[in-house]
Amino acid sequence: MNRALRVFPWRGISRRLNERFLSSITFPPARAAIYVGVVVLLAGVIPVGPAVAQQNQSDPAVWKVGLARVDITPTEPIWLAGYAARNKPSEGVLAPLFAKAMLLEDFQGNRGLIITLDIIGFRENVAAEVARRIEEKTGLKREQVLICFSHTHTGPIVSLGAVAGYSVDEPNRAVIESYTRRLIEQLGDLAASAAESLRPAGLQWGVGVAPFVMNRREFIERGVRIGFNPRGYVDRSVPVLKATSPEGESLAVLFGYACHNTTLTGQHYVISGDYAGFAQAKLEEELPGVQAMFVTGCAADANPHPRGEIEHARQHGSTLAAAVREVLGGPMQPVRGPLKLAYRRVDLPLQQFTEEQLRAMAKGPDYLAGNARRMLEMLEKGEPLPKTFPAPIAVWQFGTDLTLVALPAEVVSDYALLLDSALGHLKLWVAAYCNEVFGYIPSAKVLSEGGYECRGVYVAPGFFAPEVEEVIVKEVREMAAGLGRPVPENWYR
Ligand SMILES: [Zn+2]
Repeated sequence: MNRALRVFPWRGISRRLNERFLSSITFPPARAAIYVGVVVLLAGVIPVGPAVAQQNQSDPAVWKVGLARVDITPTEPIWLAGYAARNKPSEGVLAPLFAKAMLLEDFQGNRGLIITLDIIGFRENVAAEVARRIEEKTGLKREQVLICFSHTHTGPIVSLGAVAGYSVDEPNRAVIESYTRRLIEQLGDLAASAAESLRPAGLQWGVGVAPFVMNRREFIERGVRIGFNPRGYVDRSVPVLKATSPEGESLAVLFGYACHNTTLTGQHYVISGDYAGFAQAKLEEELPGVQAMFVTGCAADANPHPRGEIEHARQHGSTLAAAVREVLGGPMQPVRGPLKLAYRRVDLPLQQFTEEQLRAMAKGPDYLAGNARRMLEMLEKGEPLPKTFPAPIAVWQFGTDLTLVALPAEVVSDYALLLDSALGHLKLWVAAYCNEVFGYIPSAKVLSEGGYECRGVYVAPGFFAPEVEEVIVKEVREMAAGLGRPVPENWYR
């Protein structure tokens, strides 16, 4: 799994698709694009929530925050997610796993719920069940719920139905199914508890830095493998959102880092939340009464460094907690409403291959071969190959103080740079691993270079095309502009 080799058909195909795509689109001037975006989006982004607010309707600095948490540590041995080479279920618990909720209600009564999970991720069918359960319990609609995965690789597989990508037998699959059903129930109850605990609060945010993330795309003679690349780009920022009581007492801290939660490897069979879990625990230990919640950034090509030992995970957790505390101890910016939310399912383009190209890929490294074989089977059955994959993208706009972009799946670091440019560098939080995790979303640059992050969708057949970058950036820009974020006229593309 760690040997990632460049695959030769990639470059030519990517370039050809890129040229065709670029020639078929004429970009309107930026102002017109914003205008069109605003008009198109009006129906989708009108603030949601009860029309009548009980609190001060004129002060956008006034919020209500509802907090809740639930222990989601598996109670029996269960197959752990993230490393296909594992050959047995978990053996004990190093640290408990949690689901945590923060419900925000702005001065106009608009509501949004953030759930953070010490879980690797789950796909659309589980996300839909979670959203349905939360709506039943709280009335919150899908677009009002943001699910953030810590992407721990020492947590359970979460799946309904068949489990792809792991050598799991039926009894172990049944354990996963039963854990997942219970988790869905727990998340409904968690949302209800958060709604019951709403209390007046203020919000502030700031950005710090932590040093242990490392670009993992190591270039070797034969291509790109998973290793370390000190010259490769990583996003080392630590965004922090703090909720405080009207008296100034800290209630909760939501913090991010763009680093794969993979300090621990396939050799580890003991449950934990890896560095992100240790960071949350450390903060909660040092700040009694405060709920700490972790949000992953664009980390698909970024690993912790060093890694491999439990001690490394603890150490990175402490480093990240210290970075968060540094932000909390400094001047933070006020975050005011109104809270405006957008949630869109966007069709991301997939590369189109000939049968001959797929046959060549099926002989390549595992991370390409499996997907290529599935596509060949489809061709043999006479089924058409998919042209797109639907991905949920969310944007949360906090007045004019902060934009939270929530991308789904495993997104490479380049997107932090692309979105900085397309949306403006300030008052921006770029998160990934949100709502659904279904595969790797590469940049055009990564696709042209090859390597593991080119593996595409892993819950269905398909490899993302280089145009995915343009589609996502343009969509997010439109969504943010539609919600009232001023976006720059000129940007890099
Ligand atoms: Zn991953």
